[in-house]
Amino acid sequence: MKNTLKTLWENTYKIIYPDFCPYCFKMLESYDYACESCKKKIPENGITQGVAGGYRSCSALHYSGIFKRALFRFKFRKKKYHARQFAYLLHRQVEHSYPDMIFDYITYVPMHKKALRKRGFNQCEVLAKELSKLMGIPYRSTLVKIRNTKPQHELESIERYTNLIGAFKVADKNAVKDKSILLLDDVITTGSTLGECAKTLQKAKPAHICCVTLLSVANLFY
Ligand SMILES: [Zn+2]
Repeated sequence: MKNTLKTLWENTYKIIYPDFCPYCFKMLESYDYACESCKKKIPENGITQGVAGGYRSCSALHYSGIFKRALFRFKFRKKKYHARQFAYLLHRQVEHSYPDMIFDYITYVPMHKKALRKRGFNQCEVLAKELSKLMGIPYRSTLVKIRNTKPQHELESIERYTNLIGAFKVADKNAVKDKSILLLDDVITTGSTLGECAKTLQKAKPAHICCVTLLSVANLFY
């Protein structure tokens, strides 16, 4: 009886809230991170293993086509329910790129309070929360953005490196000291955002910092 009710509830829930592929919006018969067709376009081992500001960095997808549009919808059209599907890819990437690491927790690139008020949520925090469930480790806010900087994508490449200098501070140094930290951002372009966040965290003397992003603009060493 209990199982019948559970199945009934799951079927009803699925009718009200069906699962969609985040990349092509095809309805999925059962929960999955993508439809079979889009799965074929997703690189199994990720596309980047580089260095952001001197720190190891990896990404799951290219910042192009269907993946770029999926991130746009997630960020700007509030399609937050795709976070679990993106987190699957982040998890797979972390396992592939950092088999040698045991992380204490996940942290993420913060938004300035004004930008957060405008968007209503920090997409990196939402991803960190879902990734934390899959990895079985906590996620926590460690950085505060103290300067409301111009969006990185609006700047010339040279400005991107200076725009964020001194823009972050560590909220609680004791929470960072001697910890192995996985630092998450949604997309890496020049690596300057992750680099600046990692350098700021470094002041509080963590044991390790490794970076992960969902998308990467190029398959480069930063
Ligand atoms: Zn699809």
